[in-house]
Amino acid sequence: MSVAPLPGILDIVPYKGGEAKVPGFEKPWKLSSNENPLGCSPRALQAYRAAADELAIYPDGEHAGLRTAIAHRYGLDANRIMCGSGSDEIFQLLGRAFLDQGDEVVQSAHGFLVYRLTAQQAGAVCISAPETNLTADVDALLGCVTTKTKIMFLANPNNPTGTYLPYSEIKRLHAGLPSHVLLVLDAAYSEYVQTNDYSSGLELAGQEGNVLMTRTFSKIHGLAAARVGWCYGPQLVIDALNRVRGPFNISAPGLAAAEAAILDQDFANKSIIFNAQWLAYLTQEIRLLGLEVTPSVGNFLLVRFPGENGKTSSAADNFLRERGLIVRAVKAYQLDDYLRISVGLEEPNRLLVAALKDFMAS
Ligand SMILES: *Cc1c(COP(=O)(O)O)cnc(C)c1O
Repeated sequence: MSVAPLPGILDIVPYKGGEAKVPGFEKPWKLSSNENPLGCSPRALQAYRAAADELAIYPDGEHAGLRTAIAHRYGLDANRIMCGSGSDEIFQLLGRAFLDQGDEVVQSAHGFLVYRLTAQQAGAVCISAPETNLTADVDALLGCVTTKTKIMFLANPNNPTGTYLPYSEIKRLHAGLPSHVLLVLDAAYSEYVQTNDYSSGLELAGQEGNVLMTRTFSKIHGLAAARVGWCYGPQLVIDALNRVRGPFNISAPGLAAAEAAILDQDFANKSIIFNAQWLAYLTQEIRLLGLEVTPSVGNFLLVRFPGENGKTSSAADNFLRERGLIVRAVKAYQLDDYLRISVGLEEPNRLLVAALKDFMAS
């Protein structure tokens, strides 16, 4: 007998993060991971640095300071907030606490890849519901639910499509779900949404016994490297997650930075305004080149390439790379003709439009 992982583990295709390197460029523009081009709050940075003075000391395993700050910011019960090493860890912990071999997870066809990984890691099956116009479809999602379904994951807005469901549709989705299915609303990009028919689902997560909302410090707060996320929901779910996580799952500098970030609404507002301006610019300019751009409410765009005359997404990807611009291929999401492009600073945004223009004319 030799050592062997559990069945199915080696069938998992590992998640590949956005690339950061291009040969020949010392510092290429990274528009591949939806990071905040403005960086993070100066107060968060200061708090992170200050925490370096106490690296010999274990962090607060209860995350009390951070949970209190989040509860205060959003008017929540701090006992019903759980914090993870990024929202990624929260998804994995949901798998550990709620999924068994043969259980089913439902997600939307072009949903975030980590949901499938979560299911596979637990030996569960991930079922994908078809979308309409690259947008989650409530009836299709409900149609995939069986007695084996334990979790439904929905990113709202979704990555990589950038589309969203209005709150009325989220409520209709919840109303149609059996009470044994946990609805996980991943609100990683919620702060960027400007439309008034949207809600992150905080209210539903506060009221219902089977709704969990997740958030991250990786996007609007610009702390992707610090790895901090949080969730809010029914006490039973929070208690289960706290039992399966590691006792010190978030580093002290990460906790300190996140706590400072949630208190710095000025930085978040600045990021929202910056993003709205450049999202609109990129959408408009790229459409003027004759390319199809899916309407996005996030901090990124999904662009479709025609495919004829060599104008494929792969050719565009290579062309952009040669100009030091790294975007994201989304073939792993069954979106072969598309590239996902994060909103960057003014300089790369303008370089990107100029490069795409040259690509289309080439
Ligand atoms: C970026 C992203 C997250 C955040 O992941 P972290 O682990 O918190 O960095 C969560 N969900 C979606 C859909 C994302 O795109």
